[in-house]
Amino acid sequence: MLRVMFIGTSSARPTVSRNTSALAVQRGADLYLFDCGEGTQRQMMRYGVGFMVREIYLTHMHADHYLGVVGLLRTMSLQDRLEALAIYTPPGGEELLRQAVGLELAELSFPVRIEALVPDASNQHDGYSISAYAVSHPGGANGYVLRESARPGRFYPERALELGVPEGPLFGRLQRGEAVLAEDGRQVEPGDVMGPPRPGRTVVYTGDTRPCDSTVKVAAGCDLLIHEATFSDDEVDRAQRTGHSTARQAGEVAQAAGVHRLVLTHLSARYSERAYVLEREAKRACGGACEVLVAYDGLTIEVPFRDAEEAEP
Ligand SMILES: [Zn+2]
Ligand SMILES: [Zn+2]
Repeated sequence: MLRVMFIGTSSARPTVSRNTSALAVQRGADLYLFDCGEGTQRQMMRYGVGFMVREIYLTHMHADHYLGVVGLLRTMSLQDRLEALAIYTPPGGEELLRQAVGLELAELSFPVRIEALVPDASNQHDGYSISAYAVSHPGGANGYVLRESARPGRFYPERALELGVPEGPLFGRLQRGEAVLAEDGRQVEPGDVMGPPRPGRTVVYTGDTRPCDSTVKVAAGCDLLIHEATFSDDEVDRAQRTGHSTARQAGEVAQAAGVHRLVLTHLSARYSERAYVLEREAKRACGGACEVLVAYDGLTIEVPFRDAEEAEP
C-alpha cells in the first residue's frame, strides 16, 4: 500500500477549512509525516492517521511547517510511546528545531533524534528510500522523494515447466533470482522464466519552492508530484519574491517532468474556497499531459502500480 493523506493544505496560516502544512504517507506498515504545521496532531486524529509515525521530514523551518512538532511529541509521550523517532530537517534547521522543542526533549517517554539531511542524502528502508533534494525557497529548503526499488519481473510457471523445472521449491528459488537445475541437468536462469523487472512507485513532495529544475529532474516520470501552488498567476511576481510557485508554474514543472499525476497544495488563504482557479490554471499549463487535483484537508490518494491489475507484494 502507498497512500498519501493531505492533512494540512493551507499556506502561512490556517483557514476555516484548511490547516497549515502536513502530509502523512503510509507505505505498507510504515507511517511518515512530511511537515508538521501547528495543530497537525488534531488533524491526524480527525482524519484517522494515528500517531505511530516512524520518521518526520520537515521541508524547512518556517513556522507553518514545523510548529506542530512540539505538541505532537508531547501527545506521543502522554501515550507512553517507547519507539525512537527521527526528525529530519534541511541543513541548519536541526538547531532551530532543538531550540523549539527545548527542555521538552529530555522529558519525553521515547528518544528523539533530530538530524539535518543534506540534499541527495537518503534514508534506505526495506524496498524503498526517502531522499532529500534542494529546492528554491528563502532560508534553504528540502523537497523529498519517496522512491520504491524495482520489483522482480512477473514469473511464468508454464515456461518453467516447459524447461523441465518441477513445480515446488525450485519455483521459489527462481523467483528469488537464483539459477536452478532442470530435470535433465540443464541450468535454468531466472531470466528464462521471468519478465523484466517492474518499476516501483515514486512520490515527490516539493514543500515551499519557486518552480525549479531540481524538481523537474527528481520528478521525471514519477507517479505523483505534490507541488506547492501558493498563488495564481495573477501574483506571479509576488510568488517569485517570496519563494513560491503559481499554479501555472506547478503545471509547467509537472509537464516538463512528465509526471503521471499532479496535486497542488499550500494554498494562499484567498484561494482556500476558490481552488478551481488554481486547478484550471495548472491544467492549462500541463496541457492535459497529467491528471491535476487541488488538495484539500482530508484528501487521501492511493498510488497504484502502473501495472495496477497485478496484486501488490
Ligand atoms: Zn509555507
Ligand atoms: Zn516557507
